Amino acid sequence: MSKPEKQKIKSFCKWSPKQIQKNFELLTELLEDPRFVCKKCARASNNKKTLCKPEKLPTVAKW
Ligand SMILES: [Zn+2]
Repeated sequence: MSKPEKQKIKSFCKWSPKQIQKNFELLTELLEDPRFVCKKCARASNNKKTLCKPEKLPTVAKW
């Protein structure tokens, strides 16, 4: 059984501009209802595996 794509995302804190372009759809998915913020890079995500220093947000952020 193959796992969904989300399993193999690497921390997008480290994405290069090229990777951001290439994975833009995935990025926007991860930015929906962000639950975590990276304390190092100030990026937000709903998947803490995509952040290098994830910190839980106290409430779901509304943009
Ligand atoms: Zn980070």
